Order: sequence, then structure tokens, then C-alpha cells
Amino acid sequence: MGNEAPVLVVSGFLGSGKTTLVRGLLADAQRTGSRVAVVSNEFGELGIDRALLGPGDQAYVELEGGCVCCELSSELVETLQMLWEKVHPDRVIIETSGVALPFDTQLQLWREPVTRWVASDTALVVVNALQLDEAKDLSDTFEQQVSSADMLLLNKIDLVDAAKLAGFEGILAELAPGTPIIRSTQGAVDPALLFPPNPGERRPAAARTHDHHHEAFESTEIAIERGLDPEAVCERVRSLGALRAKGFVETSSGVRIVQGVGSRVELSEIHSAPPAELLGRVVVVRRSGGAPRDPAHARKQSHRR
Ligand SMILES: [Zn+2]
Repeated sequence: MGNEAPVLVVSGFLGSGKTTLVRGLLADAQRTGSRVAVVSNEFGELGIDRALLGPGDQAYVELEGGCVCCELSSELVETLQMLWEKVHPDRVIIETSGVALPFDTQLQLWREPVTRWVASDTALVVVNALQLDEAKDLSDTFEQQVSSADMLLLNKIDLVDAAKLAGFEGILAELAPGTPIIRSTQGAVDPALLFPPNPGERRPAAARTHDHHHEAFESTEIAIERGLDPEAVCERVRSLGALRAKGFVETSSGVRIVQGVGSRVELSEIHSAPPAELLGRVVVVRRSGGAPRDPAHARKQSHRR
């Protein structure tokens, strides 16, 4: 612990609200005192307000002249490693260009040397509800982005007729069965969904009493007894219908870190054991006071970890 960082890949078309979302996450990091490194491959939007990054701007790098999921993939890996060595961030955000494929970007995180410190990776695809409303035919790129997302943010919902939202979610669910869909305005999303807290970690109150209109979530801790088969642990966590899950469990095959995004629940070995008091504790983040919208589903695509 402490020698790894989660990576969030933010994708979606130009104008979907990626930059606004990233700015919100940076503001949250400032409130909570976490160090965030941002690699932005998006151009044409306003860019990040450097004041949000705090002292020193070495934690923000723009990559231009190509796309980080293909032409600039080696530059991406080099930049991430440079940021890791210089800034040692708690969290890393990659904002891709509007045409990038999130899964291809995630694949780069498997490369040496960054694979040594990438604790987890999540692909968030931001969808502009207004564009969905106006689009007659959805492009291939859009469909590929949506289908490879770990989580979908249906953004700018204040700009469309609320009665249409369920229909939009239906379109997204068809493209990406089982992927959690979060509604938002102005890219406002609970950071705990994107960077779930560790067990035993107290979430700052500021993160809960957030301003904008986003859906309400709650994080709770569940206990998982030791000695279970890893597959049984996966099943148990999956059955909770959580949007996110994270924790440490002592399975019959040894200590594992449990990480879940929607129905994608993975157990992996960890390099250094967590403190004993954290074993058997898993934080789950769920919608407040409601069952998940789309429980019990299998993902059609397999992912890392
Ligand atoms: Zn690309």
C-alpha cells in the first residue's frame, strides 16, 4: 500500500463533459488533500484550471498530436511513469480524446513499468444526453466506447426531457449490458464511485455534502470471513449489486485485494499485505435506498484483473 495508485480513464465525445468532470475531481482532491496526476489527450475544450492542481503544475500533462490509445500509446506510458516518479500521485486520471477507445487505453496500463504501480483501472465513458437525443444513427466509435466502459455517466440530463432518460439508458444498456449507468449534470459524480475508499478509511464530510445534482450513493463496509474460495468471494461481492467494491480478503489461496466495478469483480494478489485489521473488510458503494437498476448480469467482455 502506498506504492500503488488507481487509474481512471475518462473517455467520451468532445462536448460530453469530460473536462468538467475532471475539474470536479480535482476540486474534490483539493478538499480532501489527495494528490492527483492528470494526463489529458483532449484538445479543444477549455483545459484544466491549473489553480486546481495546487502548488507545482507538474501533475498535469497534455499529450497532443495523436491519440493515447494508439499513436501516442508509448508517450502515454512514458508520461505516466514520469508523473509517478516525480509526483507520486494518490490517483491518476487520463482524459482521452473524443475518438479514443477506453479499453485500448486501459491495455497500455499493463505495460512495463507502469503495470507495477497501477493498482486498478476504471474506464468511465461520459455520454452527453443531448447528443443521444439528437443522434439519429450512433457512430461505431460511440458504440465501441460505450461497450467497453466499466461505468457510464449519462451527463447533461438537465438539457433533455426527463421522460426520455429511461429510453437513453435502454440504448446504453443494450450496447453495454451490465455496465452501471450514472446520471449527472455538469459531470458531477461522487468521487467514491470512481475512487472507492479503502476499508477503515474515513471519508471526509465534504465529499458527502456535495453541491450539484447527482445521484445519491452510500458506502458501507461488509465483512467476509476468511478461508473462502476466491470464486466464492467473487460471487458474494457480485451478489451485493454494488457499483463499486474494494477491500481485502484472506481466501483459501491467500490474501487478495477485491475490486469491483459493476458486475466486474476481480481478486488479485497484492505485493504487500495490508494491516491485519483491514482483512475481511470490503467497502461497497451503492445507490442510496434503492436496489440496483440492473442486477445480476454477466459482462460480455473479459477485462484485466
Ligand atoms: Zn487511439
